[in-house]
Amino acid sequence: MSELSELYQQVILDHNKKPRNYRQLENANRVAEGHNPLCGDQLTVYLEMDGGVVKEISFVGSGCAISKASASMMTQSLKGKTREEAQVLFDEFHRMVTGELDAETTENHLGRLTIFSGVRDYPARVKCASLSWHTMHAALEGEERATTENLGPELHGEAAG
Ligand code: ZN
Repeated sequence: MSELSELYQQVILDHNKKPRNYRQLENANRVAEGHNPLCGDQLTVYLEMDGGVVKEISFVGSGCAISKASASMMTQSLKGKTREEAQVLFDEFHRMVTGELDAETTENHLGRLTIFSGVRDYPARVKCASLSWHTMHAALEGEERATTENLGPELHGEAAG
């Protein structure tokens, strides 16, 4: 477990320092803004959908290291994925950070994203880690805004804690 947390810290620091796909996307056809008022994280996710495929994805914003690293890794994971695959990853990531999916024992498609599994023990951090995913999801659904507040039953794993 300590090995995982060491890896976790290294990856978070690296992505926070050098966020991948950190830019505005000129050809974006989906854009959404996300806000996590609890921590002050704010970001914009850009998607260029080509048919049903994520051709390009990027983000800009400001926030804590976890929110930034999560957004950075999300863009890496989703580029080239179909809309359906993106939906699956969104669901799996969300269930992992809220403690509903144990990435070690349950088959999943998360790959390196499983380093975020530890945030399930820190409710305030769940929102930081999932903000970019909610924002991406909103963009995919054609909405322009996402917030970690007022998501109702979606975050019940956290409320129950
Ligand atoms: Zn945060």
